[in-house]
Order: sequence, then structure tokens, then C-alpha cells
Amino acid sequence: MEGENKIKVIKGKKVVINGEIRPATILIRNGIIIDIKEYSIEIKEEHEILIDENELIIMGGLVDSHVHVNEPGRTEWEGFLSATSAAASGGVTTIIDMPLNSSPVTTTYDNLQSKIKSMPGKLRVDVGLLGGIIPGNASEISRMVLEGGVVGFKSFLVHSGIDEFPHVQETDIQEAMDVMKQLRDECGGRDVVMMFHAETEEPIKEATERLEREKADPKLYDTFLQSRPRVSENIAIDKVIELCKKNQVRTHIVHLSSSDAIKSINEAVHHDKVPITAETTYHYLYFVSEQVPYGNTLYKCCPPVREGENKDLLWKAVNEGTIKIIVSDHSPCTLDLKLIEQGDFMKAWGGISSLQLGLPIIWTEAKKRGVSLVKLSEYMSDEPSRLVGLNDRKGSIKIGRDADFVIWDPEESFIVDQDLLMVKNKNSPYHGEKLHGVVHETILRGNKIFKRGDQSISRILGQRLIPTKIHTNSIYPNPTLPEIELLNSLSKSSFIECTNLLFESAPPLANELYEKRPFSSYQQLINDADKIIKSLNPNDKIQVINAHPRIGSSAAQVKKSSSISYREQNCDKDSSIDQSILETLKNLNNQYESKFGFKFVEFVNGRSKSEIIPIIEQRLNNEKQSELDKGLSEMIEISKSRLLKLK
Ligand SMILES: [Zn+2]
Repeated sequence: MEGENKIKVIKGKKVVINGEIRPATILIRNGIIIDIKEYSIEIKEEHEILIDENELIIMGGLVDSHVHVNEPGRTEWEGFLSATSAAASGGVTTIIDMPLNSSPVTTTYDNLQSKIKSMPGKLRVDVGLLGGIIPGNASEISRMVLEGGVVGFKSFLVHSGIDEFPHVQETDIQEAMDVMKQLRDECGGRDVVMMFHAETEEPIKEATERLEREKADPKLYDTFLQSRPRVSENIAIDKVIELCKKNQVRTHIVHLSSSDAIKSINEAVHHDKVPITAETTYHYLYFVSEQVPYGNTLYKCCPPVREGENKDLLWKAVNEGTIKIIVSDHSPCTLDLKLIEQGDFMKAWGGISSLQLGLPIIWTEAKKRGVSLVKLSEYMSDEPSRLVGLNDRKGSIKIGRDADFVIWDPEESFIVDQDLLMVKNKNSPYHGEKLHGVVHETILRGNKIFKRGDQSISRILGQRLIPTKIHTNSIYPNPTLPEIELLNSLSKSSFIECTNLLFESAPPLANELYEKRPFSSYQQLINDADKIIKSLNPNDKIQVINAHPRIGSSAAQVKKSSSISYREQNCDKDSSIDQSILETLKNLNNQYESKFGFKFVEFVNGRSKSEIIPIIEQRLNNEKQSELDKGLSEMIEISKSRLLKLK
């Protein structure tokens, strides 16, 4: 990456920070916001001024947690390059990809790998991946989270539109929720969200059969609207609430359309404290069914765009904060599947293309309704990133987060020309609409990735996103440490989780280390840890040393506590070594622990287990005090070597 350590600066008179619009200067290093200062501070000569803006709004980059990229397999519908290009030009710096309609669908660890393989070289913004839950795949869930790094799961309560992604029954949901609870217990309280397309089959079937009997006109939008009644959503949402309440697993309703269901969601959240959220989408907050043109199937999506009165009630829920997440549900297909000529709403593929237009679509409506752009920033950046566990990196402008921004003009308006959209299939029901709000520039981790009227910026700087908790979890096979700037700003539990990668730190060390922030580098952090350890009282020292896994425990045990230790101790080769060596090591560890009262720690440094035996034998002859200090200094050596591997 360019300009590694150089400080970049964004100055603006109208910056959306912490719930208000104010002048500010933002300092960025290594793609992370390291400070937010007064507007008037003096800028050092060696700093690079990225943006200096008086008039335009500077806001955190948008996070769209509901995008169907469809690559691999249905790349003619949409692909990573086209989708992320459209996102970049719309001020969206993070998208979360749905587990369908790619082929294969993202419902197994292996399928997830083929998705991951299709991504390199195509990401203009950051991308997180969702897995899918279908009947019978509960056994894939843990691996997709822990080894695959998915940010959540999506499932359907009604036919998904493609046969390879069947919808779930209550027993499937229960099975999946049981796995989620287990995951949470095993991995220190991590919550992985389960998202639901909440419509239920029966009312749809009933209505469709009736409409067929009545020979209702399939080119009339109202026919389609009647075929997907609100009650279908309401019943499904009540079912999800019930299961969520029973299991207390983090749950989310995608693309809420029926305003009738707002009441039960509100009650569940506020009265019953159920861990559930709901999102609505651009099209439900913009279009109304009364105005859908005869036979124009570009407006078809499921659940459907409903009446004007329904739209008003959705906006009321946004205004009151029952709905705090607004996303695109960008779900394009090739034009032939829309059956434009035929104009048959009942047969056409459902899904609306809108990824690039979110900010102006929502702002155009919001300003009419007195909803502030500060609130939009919250609902289009902060809350979607929180939903998928990326809130420590993504969302509105905050120290420690990625330096992602959208710079835009809320006053300017434009007429949507679908030919200028960057998505693969450009036909959109927004074509010809007059919208307010024009994106001028988009910045991803301190780099310009879009500038209005400048097609030359076509950088591929996007990354796949894995939540920090998964990122650093010791049982994830390739954990990495975040940038030091991010570490400095993490919550205490996330901070400790990160430092655990270096020290498996017990509370006496972890707490003091947390108090020592900020660190200028990991080297400094390790030096400080060394000093802290030396100053601890003997009992605390023993607590720290005992947090380290035993050298010579069973491979499975070591793997469970730390995949780094597992590698350091060459546990993968345990099955091929002489069992008597492991037995001897076990006996020596027991002798050591009963003599000194703490664990034997040695920087193995690639040596085999048989080479450790004479070392532990020799160290058994030492005094307790010197052994304690020796073990602790070995721990510091271990952390130094880990630092090289983890960066
Ligand atoms: Zn969708």
C-alpha cells in the first residue's frame, strides 16, 4: 500500500461526527483514523492533505449489509468488480454479500472457498461474506465462522427463488440456533447474526390460487401485490421473534416491507428485550404500489413494494428508531429474466437494482420528512456495520476506525440515467427519477477510490472483511493482529482478545497493559508487557505464567486453546512421534509443577518435543524464584517471535 506511515489529512467545515455536523480535521495513518481535531489546527508540512472542503458534507463511508453479488456462477447477473465499482461511486465503502444467488450458493465451507477464490483483483470496496442456512447444513456453521470468517448467516422461510437454496423449517432454525449458542460459549460470547427472509408460504399460495381462479391480470401490479400479502410477512416475523426469544440468539429481519409487523418487532425489542433487529430497503422507502406502471416488472421484488400508507408507516418506524438499518437489497438479474416484453409480474424474476443510488434515494425522501442526515449516517453506516460485527472498523467517523468517507452535496439534484450506472445489468426502476444528493468523492482506508467525473480512479484496494473477534481468535487458523492504531481504540474485551495472541495474557497483565494505551508500536507493547510482568507480585506472576498452554499437552487440547501454540509446538506432527516421548514429557511437567507450583514455559522455537526433555530435566534442578523469572522471560521471547508471524 502506498504512503504507509505518512499522515493524511481530511479537513471539512461540515463533517458528520458523533451525532452532529461540525468543522473538523481528521488525521489518518495506515488507513485508520488516528485523531479528530479542531478545524483550525495547523497542518504539518510533511502531512498530505487529502481533502480540504468548505461546502460538501463529509460522512463515514456507507455500509450496505444486503447486496447480492452473484459471483461465482451467476456473474452475468452481477459480479464483484461491477458491484464494488457501483458501490464506490455511490459512496459505499463496505458491502456484505448474500449467500445467494451465486452458484454454488454459500451454504458449505467448500462453497465458501470457491466464493473467496473468485474475489481477488476485483474489489474496489471492502466486502464481507454471509453464509446461508438451509435444511441439513447445521454441521457447516462452526467451520464457516471460525475458519471461513463469515460475518453472519441468512435463511429463508419461503421459497428463495432458486432450488439449490431451499427454505428452512422451525426444526432447522432450532438446530442452527443451538450451534450459535454453542459457538458463543466456546468463543467468549461472540454473537453471529442469523438473518431471515421473513415471508411464509401459506397465505401466498392461497392468494395466488384465488387470483388465478379470478383470472386477475398479471400485468397489473396490484395482482402481484395481492399475491404477497402483508399477513405472510407478519406470521413469519412472529415466528422468528418467538424462536429468538426462546433461544436468545442474535436475529435480524431482512427487507421488512409490511408496516403491520412493526408493532410486534417494537414489542419484542422494547418490552421483551429480544435480541432482534430489522432493516428496510431503499425501494420500500421510495416507491409506492399505486404508482408502479402497468407491466413494468423492474419494480418487482419480494416482499413487494406496498401502498403509500405503508411507506409512510415504515418512515415513521425509521424516524422513531424501530428500524435502524437501511440497505439496498441490490438484487439484479439479466434483463431477459425480467420478461419486460411480456410484462408479467407473476412470472418475472424479483429483485431491484439500486446499489449505487442509496444515498440520494434515501436523502430525497428523508429531507421531505425531516429526517436528518446525521440519522442517515447512523442508519446507513453505523448500524449495518454493527449488525455484522464490523463496528470496531466500519461505520461513521470515529478514532480507530478505517478512514472510509463519502463526500457529497445534499443540495444538488440529478436525474437518474440508468446507462451511467456501473452495475452489470443497468435497467433500474429509478431511471428518470429526480434525486437529491450527489456523491463527489469516496475514500477507502485513506485512499481515493472514486472522484466524480474522473474515470481514471479505478483502484482495486478492497479487502475481504473478517470481524476482529474472528480475526484474532486463537482457534482461527490464521489469526492476525490489527494495526496498532486500531488496537489502541478497541473495546477492552477486543483489546484483550488481540493481546492474547501474543501472551495468552492473564488478568494481572492484561488489565495493566490496557491501562498503558496508546502504544506507538507492537514492539513498545511487548516492552511494556515485560516491565509490567517484572513488577508483579509473585502470585500474579504465577497467574500469568499459568495462562500459557502446557508444552506437551495433547494436540487437541493445545489446538483448542491456541492455534499459535499448536504451530509453535509442532503438534501436527504428534501422531508420528514416539508415544513414550509424550509420556515422559507429561511426567516431567507434573514433577515440575508439583515442585514449583507453576507451569514449565520454554520458547520452543521449532525444536522437537524430544529436544525439550533434557531442558525441563535440567531446569528441575533450579530454585523456584529463578525458575519463575526464567519462565516469564521465555514468555516474552515467545511473544516476540509471535509478533513476526502475526503481522
Ligand atoms: Zn436479498
